[in-house]
Amino acid sequence: KAKQQGRNTLQTFTQDINQKLTQRVTLRNDLQEAILNEQFELHYQPLLTRGGQVQGFEALVRWNHPSKGAISPVLFIPIAEETGQIIALSQWVMERAARDFLTLQPQLPSYCRISVNLSPMQFHRPSFLNSLTATLNATGLSATSLELELTEGILMNDTDAAIDTLHALREMGISIAIDDFGTGFSSLSYLRHLPVDKVKIDRSFINNIANNSKDAAIVQGIIALAHHLELAVVAEGVETLEQQQQLAALNCDVFQGYLFARPMPFETLQVWLKDHLKGD
Ligand code: C2E
Ligand code: MG
Ligand code: MG
Ligand code: MG
Repeated sequence: KAKQQGRNTLQTFTQDINQKLTQRVTLRNDLQEAILNEQFELHYQPLLTRGGQVQGFEALVRWNHPSKGAISPVLFIPIAEETGQIIALSQWVMERAARDFLTLQPQLPSYCRISVNLSPMQFHRPSFLNSLTATLNATGLSATSLELELTEGILMNDTDAAIDTLHALREMGISIAIDDFGTGFSSLSYLRHLPVDKVKIDRSFINNIANNSKDAAIVQGIIALAHHLELAVVAEGVETLEQQQQLAALNCDVFQGYLFARPMPFETLQVWLKDHLKGD
C-alpha cells in the first residue's frame, strides 16, 4: 500500500511538473504578444507615513491575459526575466508609471514619489542608466520623484559595479529602496556599504509580528539597525491594526498594506486620493 501511495505521489508530482512546464512555455509565447498588444496594466498601492500622510505609490504590474484572465506577476516576471522579455516590459512599466504619476503630481505634496520595481537583468545592463535618463527626459518625470525598489539579490553579485550604479542613481536624485528585506540570506553588515535610502521589511516578517515573538524581535532589530544607518524603514503587507500599532511602537516610518489600501487601477487611485488628501 505504501508503495502504491508512493507511486501515486510520484505520478502526481510528475504530472505537476509537466503541467508547470507546459504552462511556462505557453506563457512565454503569450508574453510576446502581451507586450506587443499592451495587455498589461499598472496598479498602484499607496505608502503612508506613520502619521497617515501619503508618501508615494508603488507601481505593480498586472497582466490581463485574453483567455486566462489576470495572471500574477509572481508567475510571469520570472519567465520574462529568463527570456529577456523583461526589458521591454520594464520599459513599458517605467513610462506608464511616469505618465500616471505626472497626472497626479499637481495635487500631491512635493515629497511624494512613484516607486518602481527593478528586475536584476534591467539593473545589470550596461545601458541601464542611459536608458533610464532617456525615459525621464521623454516623459518629463523628475528624478527626485522616482524611487527604485531593488531586492538584496540584485546587489549581492557584482557588488562593485552595482554600488557604482547606485551612486549614480542617487546623484541624479533618485531614491533607492531595498525590497523584501530580510529574505536574502545576506548579512546585515553589507547594508553599511550600500548607498541606499530605505529598507522595506518583507511581508513574511510582518505577518506574524503580533503573535510570534521571534518575528517581532527580527523586525525590531531591522528597524533599529536601519535607523542607526540613517535609513528609513517601510513595513510591507500590513494587514491588521495590531500589526500597525506594534510597528508604530517600534518607530517604523512608513506603512504599506491591505489595512490602508490595496493595489488599485489608476482611476480608482484618483478617487482614493480625493478622499485621502481632503484632510491635508
Ligand atoms: P513586491 O515588490 O514586494 O510587491 C509587494 C507585493 O505585496 C505586491 O504583490 C502587493 O500586491 C502585495 N501586497 C501589498 N500589501 C499586501 C498585504 O497587506 N497583504 C498581502 N498578502 N500582500 C500585499 P504583487 O502585486 O502580486 O507583486 C508581486 C511581486 O511581483 C512584487 O513584489 C515584485 O517583486 C514583482 N513585480 C510587480 N510589479 C513589477 C514590475 O513592474 N517590475 C518588476 N521587475 N517586478 C514587479
Ligand atoms: Mg516592491
Ligand atoms: Mg516587497
Ligand atoms: Mg515582497
